[in-house]
Formats: sequence, C-alpha cells, structure tokens
Amino acid sequence: MFGTYPSTKESYLTTSPVTGAELARSLEPLGVSVPSAVPTHWYNLAADLPEPVPPHLHPGTREPLGPEDLAPLFPASLIEQEVATERYIEIPETVREIYGMWRPSPLVRAHRLERVLGTPARIYYKYEGVSPVGSHKPNTAVAQAYYNALEGTTKLTTETGAGQWGASLSFAGALLGLEVEVWQVRASFDAKPYRRLQMEAYGGICHPSPSDLTEAGRAILAEHPDTTGSLGMAISEAVEVAANNPDAHYSLGSVLNHVMLHQTVIGQEAMVQLEEAGEPVAHTVFGCAGGGSNLAGLAFPFLGRNLREGTTTRLVACEPAACPSLTQGEYRYDFGDVAGLTPLLKMYTLGNDFVPPAIHAGGLRYHGMSPMVSHAVALGLMEATAIEQDDALAAGLLFARAEGIIPAPESTHGVAAAIAHARTVTEPEVVVIGLSGNGQLDLPAYSRYV
Ligand SMILES: *Cc1c(COP(=O)(O)O)cnc(C)c1O
Repeated sequence: MFGTYPSTKESYLTTSPVTGAELARSLEPLGVSVPSAVPTHWYNLAADLPEPVPPHLHPGTREPLGPEDLAPLFPASLIEQEVATERYIEIPETVREIYGMWRPSPLVRAHRLERVLGTPARIYYKYEGVSPVGSHKPNTAVAQAYYNALEGTTKLTTETGAGQWGASLSFAGALLGLEVEVWQVRASFDAKPYRRLQMEAYGGICHPSPSDLTEAGRAILAEHPDTTGSLGMAISEAVEVAANNPDAHYSLGSVLNHVMLHQTVIGQEAMVQLEEAGEPVAHTVFGCAGGGSNLAGLAFPFLGRNLREGTTTRLVACEPAACPSLTQGEYRYDFGDVAGLTPLLKMYTLGNDFVPPAIHAGGLRYHGMSPMVSHAVALGLMEATAIEQDDALAAGLLFARAEGIIPAPESTHGVAAAIAHARTVTEPEVVVIGLSGNGQLDLPAYSRYV
C-alpha cells in the first residue's frame, strides 16, 4: 500500500475559495533549480527604437493614457511595463521557475526539410509547442497572472480565438491561484471543442462570444443574431466584465507592449542557441503574425541587435491573406475591440468592425496588429507578407512530413513564407522560423488536405 488516495471525483476537483494568504504562498518561489539558459530578463525594444512607439490614447479625450486610465483593467506593474523604456526588465523568480518547466524551448536545425527543398539555406525552427498548452502564449499568461495575483486580483477575464490564449491563461491561473473566465469567438467555440475542454481541465470557465451575459454581447446579438463572432467582439465582453468587478482584471494575450515584452524570452534564447550551433549570423527570421506577439518575441531581440550593432537580420511578419492588417490595412489610431471600449492604439488596422472570414487559423483573426510591431514595420525595420491559407496548410504538411512536428495552423504561415524563400536562395544563409505552436488540437484544419 502506498497510502490513502482520494476516492471520489469531488475530492479531486473541489477547490476551496482561494484566500489572500494562500495566494501569497503560491507566489513565493519554490526554490527549484531553473536551467541557466532560461533568460533572467525580458528585452524591451523600446530602449533601442530610433523613434518612440506612439502612445495609446484615451478613447474619450484622445490624450495619451495615464496609469489611472488603465488601473480598472490592469495591475500597476503591467501598466508600468506598457510604457517602460529601460532595455531589460527582470523576470520574477516565480515566473522563471514556471518557465523552467518547458524553457529553454528547442531550436532545431531542419535538416530533413532542407533536403526535401534542395536548398542551400540552413533552416532552424524555434519550437514553442513544447509548453504545457502547446504554444508560446503561456510566456505572457504566467507573467500576467503572477503580477495580478501579487496585487490582489482574484479573477481574470479574457477573450480567445482558437482557444490557445484561453487555455494558456487558465493554465497560469491554475498555477497561481486565480479564477479565469473566457469569452471564445463563437466560430471557434463551435468548431474546436478541445480547447474549451483544456480550459475547463485547468478550472477555467468558457463562454461563446457574443454571449447574452454582457451589454456588449447583447447589443451585437440584437444586430447580428447569426454572427460567428470575432476577437474584437469577445474583447468587448471580457473588458466589460472586468471593468464592472473590482476584484477582476482583464488580460490580453497579444497586441499590447507588455505582451511583446514577455515573449522576448523566445528570441533571446534563439540568439544564444544559434551561437552555440556555430551560427553567429541569422539572415532571415520568419514568424506568423496575428496580434504580433510570437513574432515580436522572436524578432525583437534580433531587431535590437540590428539597431545597436548594425547587423542586418531580416525580420518578416507572415499574416493570413484573409486578415491582412500589415499588408492591406491603414496605419492609424483604432480601437482594439468592436464596441470601442478599449484605448485607441496606433496600429495597422482593417477597421475595428472588420469580421474576418471564419478561417481555420483562428489565432490570426484580429483586425489590428501590435503597436510595437506596426511601428517597426512603418519605420522599415521589419517586413510583412500575406500568405494564402491553402499555401500555409500545404507548407504545414510538408513540414510535418519532413520534421515530424505538425505545426499549429497559425504557425504554418511562417513556415510557408520560409519555404518559399528557401526555394529561391542560391547561396547558403541562415533562416529561422518561429514555430509558435503545435497543431495537435487543431487537426481538423488539415483535414481537407489529408
Ligand atoms: C495565438 C497564436 C498565434 C497568433 O498570435 P500572435 O500574438 O500573433 O503570436 C500564433 N500562433 C499560435 C500557435 C497561437 O496560439
């Protein structure tokens, strides 16, 4: 006998309400050893940009936002990070310990893909699919949950598209003692039940959006009863609930500056790993772009080096042709959501009422783009390309059959652009692909190809 185990379902699943003291305990570092290759700091591109990122504006006054404007939605530490200009920001040890569960993520040379393509390029992929939920999103979810818990928030609300973000925040909430309530874009809620089940396994609550639980949702449903939803609509609902509950805050999985910051562990690790692989130079970096966070996480540390040291690594944002904010949108101030509740963000946008077709790459269905990524593209420091969904999925299958990893449908946009590029090069060069996640829970997206 190995002792007594709980025998009923209840004894496993019943959680007592979290008290402040329990929260504080759960935020203490455990003292476990973290691989030294896990970065100790996040890298802030704002320190190296030749011109500052345009500030977010108050939707009523159109003046730059003050910290008090954001306080109903975000903890003070994240509000500070949103406007921070120092180059490095220390990662709290508790967050680093959680990162250590899957970080450093692998940087892998895609030998077989190179051979299949017959390219002289040396192709590497930085694989974020090894996180517990299968994508890069926990890099910021853990940080955001940590700072919220530290400041006494007990509940986080958010929106999710394909479900990766809702699952990531539910994961982080479970580890750090926060309730998580998620509004999921209706099209994905109906088409992708596994992500919702993943959220629920972590104790999160998931509603389809638009829902009748919020004023914003009811207003949208009154006008468009059959809408398949959008991230902009779901954001309106999650923001409304957080703004009306003093113990709740809102959490965004992409777009905002502090999210880009948290993701920079990806690129910092990749630069060290390339050096270790004997590659001091990276010629071209490709990453898919929805709100911009996995791309920024991989690309910004390289871009910072370009700006500080004069290296010339090309950084390419790969967006879906069905939702082409960088390549077809306007660079102007726009709302982050449909109802116009969020601050105005200076970004490439298709308009805040743009409803993207219900393409499979749900995580890329956003009308706007990170203001930091937008600014870098507008300054000519990064490039952008739009990829057709069919080309993206075909590239995903080619990659799966060569390298053995089935990329997330979102990630296939970066893979497709990298493959197209590698087919044209005639001289050896180093290509890096941001493989933001795996496609294990998104296999139906591939079904009409297989
Ligand atoms: C959410 C998601 C994306 C898109 O979001 P970004 O902020 O642009 O990174 C890309 N890949 C995967 C696997 C995702 O889950």
